Amino acid sequence: MANKIPTRIYLTEEEMPKFWYNLRADMKNKPEPMLHPGTLQPVTAADLGPVFCKGVIDQELDETTRLIPIPEDIQDFYRAYRPSALIRAYYLEKMLGTPAEIYYKFEGSNTSGSHKLNSAGPQAYYAKKEGLTSLTTETGAGQWGTAMAMSCAFYGLDLTVYMVKVSSEQKPYRKALIEAYGANLIPSPSNTTESGKKILESDPNTGGSLGCAISEAIETAVKTDKCRYVLGSVLNHVLLHQSIIGLETKTALDKFGIKPDIIIGCAGGGSNMGGLMAPFMGEKLTGKSNARFIAVEPASCPSFTRGRFAYDFGDTAKTTPLIKMMTIGNGYIPSANHAGGLRYHGMNSTLSKLFQDGLLEARAEVQTNVFDAAIKFMKTEGILPAPESSHAIKVAIDEALECKKTGEKKVILFGLSGTGFFDMTAYQSYNNKTMNDQTPSDADLQRGFASIPGIPQNS
Ligand SMILES: *Cc1c(COP(=O)(O)O)cnc(C)c1O
Repeated sequence: MANKIPTRIYLTEEEMPKFWYNLRADMKNKPEPMLHPGTLQPVTAADLGPVFCKGVIDQELDETTRLIPIPEDIQDFYRAYRPSALIRAYYLEKMLGTPAEIYYKFEGSNTSGSHKLNSAGPQAYYAKKEGLTSLTTETGAGQWGTAMAMSCAFYGLDLTVYMVKVSSEQKPYRKALIEAYGANLIPSPSNTTESGKKILESDPNTGGSLGCAISEAIETAVKTDKCRYVLGSVLNHVLLHQSIIGLETKTALDKFGIKPDIIIGCAGGGSNMGGLMAPFMGEKLTGKSNARFIAVEPASCPSFTRGRFAYDFGDTAKTTPLIKMMTIGNGYIPSANHAGGLRYHGMNSTLSKLFQDGLLEARAEVQTNVFDAAIKFMKTEGILPAPESSHAIKVAIDEALECKKTGEKKVILFGLSGTGFFDMTAYQSYNNKTMNDQTPSDADLQRGFASIPGIPQNS
């Protein structure tokens, strides 16, 4: 077919982004500042200094610089596995019989298996540059732990990973991979920290949560010399690094004059969605596009669709700064769900603000429907998707079928944030029909909301 858009659109080295894009710079209504939990004043670089590397603190607090240069060294790091492919879903479109054009950006072809490496590399780079010798972090499904283990091996840093206990049991190969890259992996909650011990005392059988693991990792970072903590999602510097996804996508689509009408991503803490949508949302904010944006979350952890917009802690032990975000409460422990990477109680503050302002939509999906979509996708497109990413596939398919009804030829773009090769337990439970679609009752959510601190919430 003449002028057919290639199935895979890649960028040349010259076309690769040299800057990250800071979406906050183009937002008239900025996300609310993080607050110091003691003083309730906006946090300063000095407040964050004991926990985070300086390089990322500067980025976290910068809401005015639009384009932030990607250091040469990180451009080199990216060259090892980027650009990722932007793929036209011809086979899926055909199977659905939709007039819509569907594109997806596949972030799962590096060994860590997801987009997480886009921020892990920069975070390890800044730590090394600042003379630190070790880092701590948490991991839910294991993608972030793997990405950090790879990055610390690359830059020569020690790493301790607190892995949510249920995930470390569900995903033994993740654990093996993280350890093979040389990191020290501890299932969380553990008795290696005060916060872990406290959680174990109150609930000895808990499978853990990202909130608990974060508390443990921060505690260890603060107590250890030349050590800092790194976070794989939720914070704005992580979204900044992930803007590489959207920038590559936009350059690739621009080459063919394609403008997406609907942009879809799964959202745990919001980093892959935030990164994919950034330049497109920037166009919307500046009146150059009228695209729709849809974040998809699991029905078992519905921070957008059933949460509150409130100042909340980022962790269960209530040690982090307060973040104004869509949250179901730092004390909320979601039921065991196979989308491990989407089990966080809160949502990035920028995405939360855009959601409040009606610029970003959200949907919640139950697991079996998500896996039905994953199977349709892998049978047609050939790629085994991560359970997290399959939330985006589900809604992309729904939107494409809507176009089939209306006959509209919309352009749908979604983020395929990772591969499902380490999630075969989840696929097994789907195959055996033992997967459940448990969603929290209002009473369950009430218990989570009760953990949101009672500070003045001014909007
Ligand atoms: C971690 C992860 C997510 C969720 O995190 P976000 O910060 O919301 O992007 C989604 N997909 C995959 C494959 C992940 O590893």
